[in-house]
Amino acid sequence: MNDDYYDLLGVSREASTEEIKKAYRKLARTLHPDVNPDPEAAEKFKRVSQAYETLSHADKRRQYDMGGGPGMGGFPGGGGGFDFNDIFDMFAGASGMRGRSQGPVPRQRRGGDVLRRVKIDLRDVVFGTEEEVSFRTAVLCERCTGSCCEPGTSPTRCTACNGSGHVQRVAQSLLGQMVTMAPCPTCEGHGDVIESPCTGCSGHGRTVSERTVTVRIPSGVENGTRIQLRGEGETGEAGGPSGDLFVELAVRDHEMFDRDGDDLVTTIAVPMTTAALGTTIPMDTFDGEQELDIRPGVQPGEEITLKGLGVTPLRRERRGDLRVVLDVDVPTSLSEEERELLEQFAALRGDETTRRSKGQRGPFAKLRERLRDL
Ligand SMILES: [Zn+2]
Ligand SMILES: [Zn+2]
Repeated sequence: MNDDYYDLLGVSREASTEEIKKAYRKLARTLHPDVNPDPEAAEKFKRVSQAYETLSHADKRRQYDMGGGPGMGGFPGGGGGFDFNDIFDMFAGASGMRGRSQGPVPRQRRGGDVLRRVKIDLRDVVFGTEEEVSFRTAVLCERCTGSCCEPGTSPTRCTACNGSGHVQRVAQSLLGQMVTMAPCPTCEGHGDVIESPCTGCSGHGRTVSERTVTVRIPSGVENGTRIQLRGEGETGEAGGPSGDLFVELAVRDHEMFDRDGDDLVTTIAVPMTTAALGTTIPMDTFDGEQELDIRPGVQPGEEITLKGLGVTPLRRERRGDLRVVLDVDVPTSLSEEERELLEQFAALRGDETTRRSKGQRGPFAKLRERLRDL
């Protein structure tokens, strides 16, 4: 890399800054990667740019002339610190081709993702389930199987760009008139032309149809959980890869059970007498009818736990529990006979009824005492 900068630019040692600029522009028009896909040209363009960067700055040029040379540390940075991107950026706007490969653009394009919402029941959360999801989407064209061509035909090489996908275009740029590459308008940059587009899909390689996908929904999912099914979304264009299907779950409220983490929770009301006497009652659960043992003297708000009848958490084995919260129904009206019986009961226990105590003792009295203490 001991190129002489003056030789590289093809100018004399006495060349003016203006002459150097002119020479560089001329070279750039033939060597810039947007114009010339040859990798050797790109390499040469870098060297020419480096030469220009040095010789176009009076102080750098002076140091170079004094024998510093490229990479010799003759001037600060020794030629480094020069960002080629500055030069490349000058071309970016002119052609719009920067960063893209120089070859033809493939027709294949990935299909879009599809999002579908599915409602499931709480039972499905407990055990997991399978749901069929139907939706209209792009599917592979059966006639051409994605080739976009009528059966028996195939794309032909584009004569306008000779299969390259690009054509030369003259554009004005910072460096004067420039020849740049633009996508070929005849083949839209594909490099080939479909003369007989498939009649089944108008040459897109896909059609729109109703599809049904079976989605396995694991236990333990949450409201709003999204399940991703790779490749089950829209079929790609021209046989390109398919997008993904996302199934977003909504869990319907259950009339009896709520979910609390891995547990299921429900509240049942038992009559006051049942709470006092205790009993065994049948209860419907997702695991069939279970017996609920209510111990005598159970208190309002007390929980009975049915082990392992809750939700199976996602990716785990052990199920949560079913918790039954007991509420005690106190009768709001009593018949004369019931009242008499309850009064007898109260008398038997030495309980004072509010009627007899007139609030001097009993619950209200206690409340009053408490308020006094405040
Ligand atoms: Zn087709
Ligand atoms: Zn073309």
